[in-house]
Amino acid sequence: GAASAPAPAPSGLRDRHRAVMPEWLALYYRDPLEITHGEGRHVWDAEGRRYLDFFGGILTTMTAHALPEVTKAVGDQAGRILHTSTLYLDRHMVELAERIAALSGIPDARVFFTTSGTEANDAALLLATTHRRSNQVLAMRNSYHGRSFASIAITGNADWSPTSLSPLQTLYVHGGIRTRGPFAHLSDARFIEACVADLEDVLAQTHGNVAALIAEPVQGVGGFTAPPDGLYAAFREVLAPRGILWITDEVQTGWGRTGDHFWGWQAHARSGPPDVLTFAKGIGNGMSVGGVVARAEVMNCLEANSISTFGGSPVTMAAGLANLTYLLEHDLQGNARRVGGLLIERLRAVAAGLPVVREVRGRGLMIGMELVGDDGSPSPEAAALTLEAARELGLLVGKGGRDGNTLRIAPPMTLTITEAEEGAALLEEALRRAQHAISGKERP
Ligand code: PMP
Repeated sequence: GAASAPAPAPSGLRDRHRAVMPEWLALYYRDPLEITHGEGRHVWDAEGRRYLDFFGGILTTMTAHALPEVTKAVGDQAGRILHTSTLYLDRHMVELAERIAALSGIPDARVFFTTSGTEANDAALLLATTHRRSNQVLAMRNSYHGRSFASIAITGNADWSPTSLSPLQTLYVHGGIRTRGPFAHLSDARFIEACVADLEDVLAQTHGNVAALIAEPVQGVGGFTAPPDGLYAAFREVLAPRGILWITDEVQTGWGRTGDHFWGWQAHARSGPPDVLTFAKGIGNGMSVGGVVARAEVMNCLEANSISTFGGSPVTMAAGLANLTYLLEHDLQGNARRVGGLLIERLRAVAAGLPVVREVRGRGLMIGMELVGDDGSPSPEAAALTLEAARELGLLVGKGGRDGNTLRIAPPMTLTITEAEEGAALLEEALRRAQHAISGKERP
């Protein structure tokens, strides 16, 4: 059953990890997994056990594990030259930047590559604060934007914000979580009105010279929670006349994962494109690629050199370009919409029979399941038990959310219908086991 602790890995790797790595570097599972290889939507551990991957390596494996096109691009480039300097021209970098600029929807766009989402958001903050000559920034409650000094300072989720010291003055506004907070009971339209009023109230208490608002269109670490469509359009009507920039953090929501849209911001399209867009994770399909896109006027506001040694290294650019090409040619956005839509339906049907699931929400292949105890309060215990049970059954999912009680499902975007159904069945069994363990009831 879910409660029995598996024996520690024979290698003792967990103990060696614990002894040499920081304590705050969390590992999933009581008996942490060592992933040794992958293929398609599956990964294998050191003991040769196979798992269906519903978490895509926390969304870094966007298309598929060991995608031959990406592996070949990486191998070809590594076989030619491995160097890491942005001081020389690189064909893949220019082409990838051209394609991302065109896809971004931002007019006169410029692209700067980084190695991570953290660094991309850091660069976006540097641009916005320099452009506006202000260190005041608006961010959303429950947000997560990275782990550098500046990106921690715009991360509202205290579990992920290890210091309160800050190079910025951050003002947090409502809207990122639909189901929590003082406006949760309102209709969508009223919810948006209340959030706009809150934003105006916060702005009225500044000297007006706020640099930017940064937001994840769907909060990732925060539990796959999104505002009603149109919130950021309504925000923009307040921000634009004041010259305040809108930065959209597309690290989790980009590249079509949400199915209906290529970027998360497009769910708010009435607002037009954002001023700045950040991306990372999936675009490299496992290679470290991140970046920031901004209008030329914003991107070029820096008056000193700001090159990057590693950002946009040839091997990561080759991977990113191969991955983006595959993603577009195979219409993975369409696949995310179709297969994700079916998966959400299946999971809602599962939830209907299990009181432990309070809500199934999401879009495309970005699905959250919020778990509660018998008394209806958030149950991080149920989430932890489900995670362990799913692993025993051969399924990897993630967790997160404000109370650590949300399962996060974000499979590689090539997920097939058969795999979606298989995963939903495994998850149903895992949830049953968790339900049984927390409520002590007989399994139906
Ligand atoms: N922004 C968002 C929305 C994220 O989810 C993450 C990573 N979880 C980051 C930024 C930071 O990206 P990275 O881990 O590549 O630094």
